[in-house]
Amino acid sequence: MNEAGVSDPERIWEADVLTLFPSMFPGPLGISLAGRALEEGTWRLRAVDIRGFASDKHRSVDDTPAGGGPGMVMRADVVAAAVDAVHRPESAKPLIYLSPRGKPLTQKRVRELAAGPGVTLLCGRFEGVDQRVIEARSMEEVSLGDFVLSGGEPAAMALIDACVRLLPGVMGSGLSGEDESFESGLLEYPHYTRPSVFEGREIPAVLTSGDHAKVNAWRRERAEELTRTRRPDLWEKFLTESPKGGRHTD
Ligand code: SAH
Repeated sequence: MNEAGVSDPERIWEADVLTLFPSMFPGPLGISLAGRALEEGTWRLRAVDIRGFASDKHRSVDDTPAGGGPGMVMRADVVAAAVDAVHRPESAKPLIYLSPRGKPLTQKRVRELAAGPGVTLLCGRFEGVDQRVIEARSMEEVSLGDFVLSGGEPAAMALIDACVRLLPGVMGSGLSGEDESFESGLLEYPHYTRPSVFEGREIPAVLTSGDHAKVNAWRRERAEELTRTRRPDLWEKFLTESPKGGRHTD
């Protein structure tokens, strides 16, 4: 039993990050919710320096792209050596390469990852990683969104952060995850707190009425309206797929 009261050491969620910049970690993950959980041993983080697996005397990890063109490409042999040192293929942990060409990360995938033993994450730099090692190690490619970062590290941090906050005991209230954006297929309703008047703007009266049924109905309407106007893609999916889906009039 460790300090966090976690009796089964197998249940500690583990993130192994392969990176050329291990000093970036834990970075933001060492602060607030994730940082406290890290200190308490709810999860473990290992940042592994890919450069340590370079075999030539210059410790080179990258080379010019075959076929020409700008930039550099991370070498397959060096990346494979790093992966093989930390990742057991028989482990249930997914091996993920953060990549703009990957499948966009969703809250559903985050939930699955958080429910498992952990993740091994490969962070690319330069133009990315030699395609052969992605295929040879059957990596899952995951994207943070349709934009290009200079490296996979911020994406790895975002993925880990999203998982860690779902681990048992990390979020203050066990319920606070359920209403959130994407969990029900909708974006979350807007929030308000003191002061009751801010620059002439009042808190919507229903929220201070004390009528919980009305509050819930108002929140649901706002959530639906926000989703419909901001994310027509999510709204369509919600209408067709959600078991509780459909408009109020259904
Ligand atoms: N030339 C590549 C981009 C390389 S960016 C392309 O056009 O597809 C360098 C590294 O940053 C990538 O190897 C990847 O690990 C990371 N990266 C960049 N954008 C990302 C995104 N949207 N999601 C996840 N990782 C990303």
